[in-house]
Formats: sequence, structure tokens, C-alpha cells
Amino acid sequence: MLKVHNTLTRQKEEFVPLDGNNVRMYVCGPTVYDYPHIGNARSFAVFDTIRRYLEYLGYRVRYITNFTDIDDKMINRANEEGTSIGELASKFIAEYHMIAKQLNLKPATVNPRATEHMDDIIEMVEMIIKNGKGYVVDGDVYFDVSEWKAYGALSKIPLDDLSAGARVDVSDKKQDPRDFVLWKAEKPGEPSWESPWGKGRPGWHAECSVMGRHYLGLPFDIHGGGQDLIFPHHENEVAQSSAAYGIDTPVKYWLHNGFLTLDSEKMSKSEQNFSTAREVLDNYDHQAVRLYLISGQYGQPLDYNDGALEQANQSLERIKNAVDTVKGRISILERTGSRESKADKKLGEASKKVRAGFETSMNDDFNTPGALAEIFTFIREINTHTKDVGGAAVLREALSVLSELVGILGIDLEASDTAEDSGASAEALKGVVEFLLDLREEARKAKDFAKSDQIRDRLGQLGITIADTKDGPTWKMG
Ligand code: AMP
Ligand code: ZN
Repeated sequence: MLKVHNTLTRQKEEFVPLDGNNVRMYVCGPTVYDYPHIGNARSFAVFDTIRRYLEYLGYRVRYITNFTDIDDKMINRANEEGTSIGELASKFIAEYHMIAKQLNLKPATVNPRATEHMDDIIEMVEMIIKNGKGYVVDGDVYFDVSEWKAYGALSKIPLDDLSAGARVDVSDKKQDPRDFVLWKAEKPGEPSWESPWGKGRPGWHAECSVMGRHYLGLPFDIHGGGQDLIFPHHENEVAQSSAAYGIDTPVKYWLHNGFLTLDSEKMSKSEQNFSTAREVLDNYDHQAVRLYLISGQYGQPLDYNDGALEQANQSLERIKNAVDTVKGRISILERTGSRESKADKKLGEASKKVRAGFETSMNDDFNTPGALAEIFTFIREINTHTKDVGGAAVLREALSVLSELVGILGIDLEASDTAEDSGASAEALKGVVEFLLDLREEARKAKDFAKSDQIRDRLGQLGITIADTKDGPTWKMG
């Protein structure tokens, strides 16, 4: 039975979707004003793993993750760079998709953008006003927190503690410093949209209420994001959705990932203590980065340092070596034929055990480090028994279980996707061809022309053409 930690109740609860086998899931995505840092990438990888595990359990998951393409950061950066918010968004949405591919994130069902939902946003703000929970001042619209008794239920912050100045932006237009903005009147030089309150743009929280409802309907099952979003973003989202649409609990399970930290401090752009996902992916094997990002339980902090990435790299190598060991044994048995042995039984049992252990860990609020520990125990079994296994079927089963389980964590054993990988393969190919050319030269010198021709012909069959020049032989592909 799957249990998930629900921020709303601060409890691990049994996961029961609202609609049978269908899971509806919304994850707050990036603000597309800059290169995401590796902390943002943790959030992407964590929720992709959660989604993959839900699919493994047999649920049909509808997965929505948005792009915030209008807010203060977007406007300021577009102005600094002399570009439009649309162009800025296109550039960093392309970057997101590149990171998503390199981290092996499954494509979302939809990646909606805030600016595509202005009509829905305006409609929601109108409903909040109509229901007596919002008020208009000089073209701004505010949510009246004093009218919302459940305010603070998600973040567990008592209303009285939300005094002016405590992470609440103070404005003399607000009736109460705790109120938050739903719609902002146009300022000179800012992009704006027509609305019943004059030209303006939405407050940040509005978009996720609207897009969640638009693509999933309310209530839906899972809402995800980093812990920094619990307050005010998600608290305000609950208030908006409930006040506008009359649904007390718009989301059944709130899941929040812990921070990726640097020297125990949250990685963030504003603190200047960050590495971009791009820098990290350019310097390390992409699959090792993915493995690192899910190496801690998603709700706990995860420290970023070179040692942790090196360790992930070694873990990845151990997985790949185990695969090679098993494949090597299969190819031997294909030539020599099968014969059952004691080791077959042991490996067969280990293949069953790892699945059960993996599921127990993942069912405990997606305990990925526990799941990985099960996988490495299995790898030790593979390394111990494979050389003595006599049946190819049991080896194929071990391989298939291993690749299925690491696949849920986002590791694709068939992929050879990194620049380093293709660089390394090219380097290896060059070495092998040059070695064969040396052997051919030796054969020619020894007047063994049959051997030298054989080498040239075999390379030719592999698409490698040799030319003899006065400086010696050269080769090229094709
Ligand atoms: P943003 O682009 O700032 O809206 O962030 C995109 C996602 O990354 C959100 O879910 C954030 O909560 C999450 N996030 C931001 N900083 C971190 C961090 N240091 N560690 C983990 N997740 C983070
Ligand atoms: Zn959001």
C-alpha cells in the first residue's frame, strides 16, 4: 500500500486517488526568466520519479507542469536584456526541454503557460470578488484574508503571525497587510491585459489555481512543488480556488520536495549560491546527475557537492557493470548452451526479492534511497552468482528486473546519451582502428598479404575505408 506524506495533514496517508485508477497531478514548474539551477532540477526529477512510480503501480497519470511566463522577475529581466517577455520565455522554455531530455523526464501531459490563461484568470478573480472574498482598489484586486477562516491551514501559520513585513508585501492599498494581490494594475513599461478593473496583469498565485482546474478539474489528487512554495504560493492557491469555486479542499495530497542545499543553505538565485543545471549537466554524466537528484528522500534536504556527484557516478558505473556482466554471461551461454546450477536458483530468488524490497521502500513515501539500497544489494547478488549461472532465462529475468526498476528512477540502461559517452566511444573507435592498421602494417612487412587484405576488407564491411598514402595508411568512416 502506497503512503504519501501530505503537507496538509503533516501525516503519511494511504494514497487513494479520487477517481479510481486515474491520478491527476499538478507540479509547479519554473519561472522561465533564467537558466534553472540544479535545485530546480531536483524538483523536476523528484516529481518525474513519483509519476513514474505511480504509473508502475498501474495508475493512469495526467501530469501537468506549468511555465510561469509573467511575473516581476520576467518583466525585470526582459527590460534588462531589451527583449520581450515572450522571447525570454521561448529561450528558457527551450532550455527547460533540453534539461528535461538530459534528465530523462517523461514529457508532461501539458506544459501550460500563464499568459495562455488570462481569460480563465480574470474569470476566477471576478468570482472571488462576487463571492465577497476580494476587493478592488485603483485597478488592483486583493484577496481578503480576514474573510477566509481556513487561511493558514496548509502552511500551519496562524493568521495572527502573518503580520505586516513578515514575508507579506506591504501596500497601503491593502485593507489588511496579510491580504494578497490577485490582479495588479498596469505600470508604465509593463506588459498588460484588458480586464474589468482596467489594464493589468495577474498576481503570481492566480495562474496555478486556474491551470490546475483547467487541465485537471477540482479537486485533483496531487499538487507538487518545492517547500518554498508552501507559503505563500500554495496557501494562497488553496484560498483562491476554494473562494472562487466553492471547493473546500481543491487538492487531496500536497507533496513538497526538500531543498537542494549548498553548505546547508537553500540553493537560490537571490542568495547567489547556485550552479545552473546546465553547468552540472555539462560536467557530469547526465544519468549520474539524475541518480544524484533522487539519491535522497524527496522531502529531505539534499546537499550539493562534487563528492555526491562522484558517488552517483560510481553508483551508475556499478549498475552498468552489472548489466555488462549479465550480458557477457548470456552471450557465453548462447554459444555453450544452458545447464542449470545452484546459482540459477539464487539469482532467481534475488530477482524476486529486489522487486518486493523496491516496492516496500517506494510505498513508504517514495523512499528512493531505500529503493536504491535494494538495487545495490541485488547487484551484489548478480556479481556473486552470474559467473556460475547456467540458464540464460534467469539472467534475462535479472536484467529485465534491473532495467525496469532503475527505469522507474529515470535511469535508461539502453541510452548512451552523454557527450562524454559519445566522445569516449569515438576515442575508443580511433584506438581500435589504429591498432588494426598497425597489425596490417606488420602483416604487410611480413608479406602476409592475405592477413593485411583481410583486415582491410573487414574494416570495409564495417564502413571504415582505408587509404594508403605516402605518409602511411589513413582511415575514415564511409
Ligand atoms: P522557480 O523557477 O523558482 O519557480 O522554481 C521551480 C521549482 O523549483 C519550484 O518547485 C521550487 O519550489 C523548486 N526549487 C527552488 N529552489 C529549490 C531548491 N534549492 N531545492 C529544491 N527545489 C527548489
Ligand atoms: Zn504554482
